[in-house]
Amino acid sequence: MTRCTSCNTVILVGGVEQEGRRFCSEKCRTNSGLAQAVQQLSPEVVARAVAETAAGNCPVCAGTGPVDVFTSHRVYSALYLTTWRSQPRISCRGCATKAQLGDLVFSLFLGWWGIPWGFVMTPVQIFRNLNGLRQDPDPQRSAPQFEALVRLRLAREACAQPVRRAA
Ligand SMILES: [Zn+2]
Ligand SMILES: [Zn+2]
Repeated sequence: MTRCTSCNTVILVGGVEQEGRRFCSEKCRTNSGLAQAVQQLSPEVVARAVAETAAGNCPVCAGTGPVDVFTSHRVYSALYLTTWRSQPRISCRGCATKAQLGDLVFSLFLGWWGIPWGFVMTPVQIFRNLNGLRQDPDPQRSAPQFEALVRLRLAREACAQPVRRAA
């Protein structure tokens, strides 16, 4: 029985193969590549990027910082289907407020209409946004998450570069 290297789903038909490893989908192959790239980043490169990002302008609006990790939360329902996600981003407080208010309004209108999770998750996500709106930038608190997001950005950049081939 073949299983996806990334998510461990049993692959019945199809799938994607790369370097002898099988993946259930293109998405899993990409995720696996990213995870590998994250592991391969050198500590010096990560430390420098973290310091530069922390001292730099907001990556979203390019305005002056301080920047921090802020998370916005949304929920979407359609009949028996309810999906929700919490999206952390590095940005300034102003951009975070925009994202959190945007997701709050989105959830307020589109969160409820699923049975039963819409009724459960909509108040939860709205509450999380309200909570997030009061959060001041605090690099101490968010340090591990901050580094994780910087690592992910570096890995994306590394994966986006064209594959080097031997001449
Ligand atoms: Zn998979
Ligand atoms: Zn901003």
